[in-house]
Amino acid sequence: MAKTGRAKKEKDWNEKLLAFLDASPVNFLAIENMCKELEQNGAERLYEEDKWKPVPGKTYYVTRNGSALIAFRIPKKEPVGFQIMASHCDSPTFRIKTHPELEVEQKYVKLNIEKYGGMLCESWFDRPLSVAGRVLVRTGEGIESRLVCVDRDLLIIPRLAIHMNREANDGVKINVQKDMLPLFAEAGEDAKGGFLRLIAEACDADPEQILETELYLYNREKGTRFGLNNEFIASGRLDDLQCAYASLQGFLNAETGKSIAVHCVYDNEEVGSTTKQGAASTFLSDVLHRINTALGGTEEDYHRLVRSGFMVSADNAHAVHPNYTEKADPTNRPYLNGGIVIKYSANQKYTTDAVSGAIFRELCHMTEVPVQEFHNRSDMLGGSTLGNISGAQVPINTVDIGLPQLAMHSSYETAGAKDTEYLIRVAQELFSTAVQTKGDGNYRILA
Ligand code: ZN
Repeated sequence: MAKTGRAKKEKDWNEKLLAFLDASPVNFLAIENMCKELEQNGAERLYEEDKWKPVPGKTYYVTRNGSALIAFRIPKKEPVGFQIMASHCDSPTFRIKTHPELEVEQKYVKLNIEKYGGMLCESWFDRPLSVAGRVLVRTGEGIESRLVCVDRDLLIIPRLAIHMNREANDGVKINVQKDMLPLFAEAGEDAKGGFLRLIAEACDADPEQILETELYLYNREKGTRFGLNNEFIASGRLDDLQCAYASLQGFLNAETGKSIAVHCVYDNEEVGSTTKQGAASTFLSDVLHRINTALGGTEEDYHRLVRSGFMVSADNAHAVHPNYTEKADPTNRPYLNGGIVIKYSANQKYTTDAVSGAIFRELCHMTEVPVQEFHNRSDMLGGSTLGNISGAQVPINTVDIGLPQLAMHSSYETAGAKDTEYLIRVAQELFSTAVQTKGDGNYRILA
């Protein structure tokens, strides 16, 4: 794996990030693209149903459900612990229901959809959308999962004209079943069964072969840079593919260190993480156990590796909004391009405590990366993330961090152009080092 020559400028990283975002309209495709990049960099694919024989000094990856991924690198000598960065690949969107076609007055066909996660609904109106996901296809040998991405402008959810709703600018309640069904086709013989035919064509199958579909809307708007000096980036799915991408690049650029480096991307964070491929699942703990066992470790060795390890839970954070500065905490004010945001919550919605915060600050200090802090205003509930959920399965010292962004859960989000590179740098350091625990309360970062 080329390492030294891969020190990229911030501009290059943003171009690559935006290309990755454009190629990753849904979770399945984000994971597929990460697998390809791992493969290109010499990582070997493992499957959960096979026996594993990992070799010291080598890099491996494994997926679950095609929508969660763990890549890991085995050190050349006996490992000190696990060094983990975890993020998520799903974003709020709309799932296409079974039997999606709905005819309106024999003139239009619209599609029936339901919410996946908590999005800003209004950001999905009046813009070209399309469909991506997976289908399960009957083949000669059995059942096969195929990825689908309809790569053209296919749908629009039109708003009601202001003339028919004069209150449209005064805050309107949005009912997904009533207001948000996308326009798909002109009605007629030709349109009957048209959606399934389109999907079958997109995955090289006959409509009769399709057993199940799992398809989602995505925003067709490509990612871009903007601002006087191109200091901002905008795209769909920055939460949380910006962190997932930075974690992957840090992982690929890292030196083989004293610890087992683990790049982990979960699915289903936006709907509570309680699936077999979400942060509440055993995916991470299963993989860590299997690595330890395959290396000849005992159950006790496993617990030692977890105690002498460190995890960064990376999920984007809210920056101070230029039009709503009062919504941020009065003394902890993260801004775009201000560096990585450490997130705190007294109720432990975020896992950061004094230990994990201190270790993470040292990693940032060592790599000259600026840090900022996020607390919710004390009169606001705020969101949650995957760190504390994953921590219930793998009780490792964990910090919750994120890159600062605006318009979280909009179909088109905004972030800083400098911040991606900051996280790549810290991820690279995390994956190259070991955080060794010496008694409960003493920690050493080993190069
Ligand atoms: Zn997120």
